[in-house]
Amino acid sequence: MSHTAEIIGVGTELLLGNVANTDAQDVSRALSELGINVYFHTVVGDNPERLKRAVGIARGRADIIITTGGLGPTFDDLTKQALADAFGKKLVYDEEQAEIIKGFFKDRARGMAMTENNLRQAMLPEGCVVFSNGCGTAPGCAFESGGTHVLMLPGPPRECRAMLEVCAVPYLKKLSQYEIRSHNIHIFGLGESAVEARLHELMESMENPTLAPYAKESEVMLRLTARARSESEAEGLMAPVLEQVKAALGDIIYGIDAQSLENRAVELLSAAGMTVAVAESCTGGLISKRLTDIPGSSEIFPGGIVAYGAPAKTSLLGVAPGTIAQYGAVSRETAVEMAQCARARFGADIGIGVTGIAGPGGDGSGLPPGTAFIALAHEAGAYCRAPSIFRADDRVRMRTFSACHAFDMLRRHLTGLPVEVAVF
Ligand code: ATP
Ligand code: MG
Repeated sequence: MSHTAEIIGVGTELLLGNVANTDAQDVSRALSELGINVYFHTVVGDNPERLKRAVGIARGRADIIITTGGLGPTFDDLTKQALADAFGKKLVYDEEQAEIIKGFFKDRARGMAMTENNLRQAMLPEGCVVFSNGCGTAPGCAFESGGTHVLMLPGPPRECRAMLEVCAVPYLKKLSQYEIRSHNIHIFGLGESAVEARLHELMESMENPTLAPYAKESEVMLRLTARARSESEAEGLMAPVLEQVKAALGDIIYGIDAQSLENRAVELLSAAGMTVAVAESCTGGLISKRLTDIPGSSEIFPGGIVAYGAPAKTSLLGVAPGTIAQYGAVSRETAVEMAQCARARFGADIGIGVTGIAGPGGDGSGLPPGTAFIALAHEAGAYCRAPSIFRADDRVRMRTFSACHAFDMLRRHLTGLPVEVAVF
């Protein structure tokens, strides 16, 4: 039997727009990985009557109700009482949780006195499974009543995520006799609709496993998910489909269950024992940032220079003034020379150079805003891409896209694939 869950976020701060409902996102993501359908997210303020009404509606359309928030010690933390009332259960004092809460204050909350209302958190619905809170004091819990499973998780995102992973996911897994396994297929070089067009028939014809696209910032991810009685059976169902997807998309797949394009580039650089230096204009340091987000990147990244204005391109990087005068600061020639200069300045094996017009205005050159040139220089030559469909009014997107192109060019260069292929 497949399950349907509804997530109820409790908190007036969510309704007022003070806090984004990231707990619902985290819970939904976990449920989707478990193959549990989610049809509704509800948000309700710190009001017991309205919360009970929301629970009444949720019971009619879901067999799993997951609440977030309102488990703490203050007067507005009313979730357990409201849910216990809604399901006709009593709250009872849980000695074990009370000891854990007392211990928390003794060990960790130096200088913070425990007040009586902290012990209110040890009041839990009778007969429930207790979810201990590894990050805070408020325990969560789960119970079953008349075929409905109720799970209560704390509001602070860090606590919610931890309890979700350590307690709620194992609890939910036991409700199903199936194992859900999935693989993420990471793609750079085609938009979501083009990917879907290539795989439309395959996607339409599938029931188990399923294949679904997710557009990510500048990339596309396909998630292949199988449901089976064992992990190996699920893997067996997915293996032939994975081969079909690889055959349909080829080398625009940059990884299966990969972390990111930059991770892939760093892995390849490390494996080759090579280094990359960057010269950035319109990306404003984003490429350097994304490389240095990766632990251990100092092995492959000696440094980068942000040379935004034309004088900096000359004085800091060493681009010939004549190149800029003749071709413009935003040109294939300047991008290539920036890449070559970065390589030379840092003594790196590979240099990356990026220059473009982030918009919304032009730079007087006649080139449309949204134009970018991304170059890669290596020992024996250089490549340059000029992707053509940047939107002129979205500076963040243009920076992200340009950085992704740089990482994709690195990946393709290091794996011996054509680098200047027409993409997008
Ligand atoms: P506490 O013990 O901290 O009171 P709690 O379980 O009672 O925990 P709430 O009081 O409802 O949780 O929320 C505490 C804080 O957690 C909120 O002020 C808000 O910043 C954050 N929070 C609550 N719900 C969510 C949510 N759905 N998404 C993101 N953040 C949330
Ligand atoms: Mg609270």
